[in-house]
Amino acid sequence: MTGLTSPAVSPAGQAAAAARELYRQKDYISALAGQSDVELRERIRETVALEEQAMQEWLDSGDCYIVSLAGKVHLPTCDSMKRFVDRQAAWGLNLRFPERLRGDSPDEDPIPVWPLLKTRAQIEAMPRRTACPLCKPDLAHLDKARRTVTWTYLPARSLKSKHFGTEFRLPEGTLLGPLTKITTVETIDGLNFRADFEHAEAPVTDPDTELMYQTGTRALA
Ligand SMILES: [Zn+2]
Repeated sequence: MTGLTSPAVSPAGQAAAAARELYRQKDYISALAGQSDVELRERIRETVALEEQAMQEWLDSGDCYIVSLAGKVHLPTCDSMKRFVDRQAAWGLNLRFPERLRGDSPDEDPIPVWPLLKTRAQIEAMPRRTACPLCKPDLAHLDKARRTVTWTYLPARSLKSKHFGTEFRLPEGTLLGPLTKITTVETIDGLNFRADFEHAEAPVTDPDTELMYQTGTRALA
């Protein structure tokens, strides 16, 4: 992880990055040295507010992964990422002991780490990646380190009994799990379709829903 990556090229992300960058400037650090604890906490809270705004904007984008220093890919909800995602917690030590920012810190760098925030496309572009065993981000569908998975797509209406037990996903990668049941009920309004999957939160009821399943792998050229 590095403290330099901005969450997104957005005004909020840039403002947060600029606020963090201040703490690395000699003039600013000298100015902080002359401030009271109350004033220092006020500066910290301003920075925290900007960082929280940038973090929230990133979380709202819904396309969020964090890469740890060890190179593991985490979901932002991972317990082990909490202290990086929660900016109030990240700055907690400095808020409690603002003198840390006057150069009175046992740490080499008292400024809390800003995590390496990535989109799925960026994770996909990484030559190697390991999913965190704790939050288990589902990266299998992106896995093309050496081989790439090939997929067959079909609308839910085309599911047949031969597909029972086959593991399905939605085209954006969400795992539905093995198909367990197909039900078509004729009602006065027409056909009511329903396909049940082992790991899906809800059955698929729209027969036009596109699904995919793995049909093989091929080596990348
Ligand atoms: Zn994790």
